[in-house]
Amino acid sequence: MSSESMAEATELKTEPGTIPTTASPPFDALDADLIIRTSDKVDFHVYKLILREASPVFRDMLAFSGPSGDEASQRVVDVTEDRDVWNHILRILYPIAGRNDLATTLTHEAYSPLLRAANKYDMAAVREFVARAVKDSIESQSKALQCYALACGYAFPRDVAEAAARASFRSWPGDRPPPRFVPDVPCMTLSAYNRLLRYRMACIQAAIDVNYFKPFPSWDKKPKLRRLDVFQLPHSQEEDKTCPQSQMHSAIRLRYYFDDYFKRSQDALRIEPSGVVVATASMLAPMLRAAERCTQCRKIDSEAFILLANDYSSKIENAVRAIRLEE
Ligand SMILES: [Zn+2]
Repeated sequence: MSSESMAEATELKTEPGTIPTTASPPFDALDADLIIRTSDKVDFHVYKLILREASPVFRDMLAFSGPSGDEASQRVVDVTEDRDVWNHILRILYPIAGRNDLATTLTHEAYSPLLRAANKYDMAAVREFVARAVKDSIESQSKALQCYALACGYAFPRDVAEAAARASFRSWPGDRPPPRFVPDVPCMTLSAYNRLLRYRMACIQAAIDVNYFKPFPSWDKKPKLRRLDVFQLPHSQEEDKTCPQSQMHSAIRLRYYFDDYFKRSQDALRIEPSGVVVATASMLAPMLRAAERCTQCRKIDSEAFILLANDYSSKIENAVRAIRLEE
């Protein structure tokens, strides 16, 4: 078989009952001592040694085939998974190049079948590999709910479940409604869902409890923010009328637009408890416009507002990340 047709063998779906085709390299080794035959009739020529090490289930199964020395003929093991699943399993287990690429090219659709197989054959290395891939993909994809369901269903480390839960708080891209169907979420247990709700409430509480606009000594330590008095320019009586002092933060002589910014921030945090929401352009814009309308406040560098928002944002982020998902 040429290498081209072998490559095709893993791409074309064969009808059940047809003659098995051989998988593409490196799973076509002539000296292999075991054949994994997938449900769609692709033969992976592999080494027992690797499967014995990776899977207690295979270790037990292969123990019945006698000592490894007298296995002249290759043993065939029929498996119920398809070629894609076994191609991934073996690429995770084999000491071959490209494992890091595999983590980034694994699609979300591949996670669930792989994890089911990892549980069935008790392959800890496969489970760990997929858990890491899931964790790495959370930030870059809007599949957080699916990741959370997998993390709970397959007992990933808690930090993976937490990161997925936090990512699930984000609004759907473009403020669209969520899709009608999210893979793996239908199998999420009620208790996993309840944990998510409780975690979300705890994160919201932590986020809105960040009382950033109290007199805040650490502002003095920020070289660029320097001092709170950046925002405390003296206003004449006349200027006071159009740019009144803050009601909520009068003790530290901020202006009225901070009240509005703080209130809008709190509202946004009740929907999405994440530092990001308080530092967006749309969150800052009304405050910057209000400052621009005042003869005193327009002297404040707009960068100072942005630094303040970013600082507030990171305090919220820290507070939320300190919340633990219940076991
Ligand atoms: Zn002002």
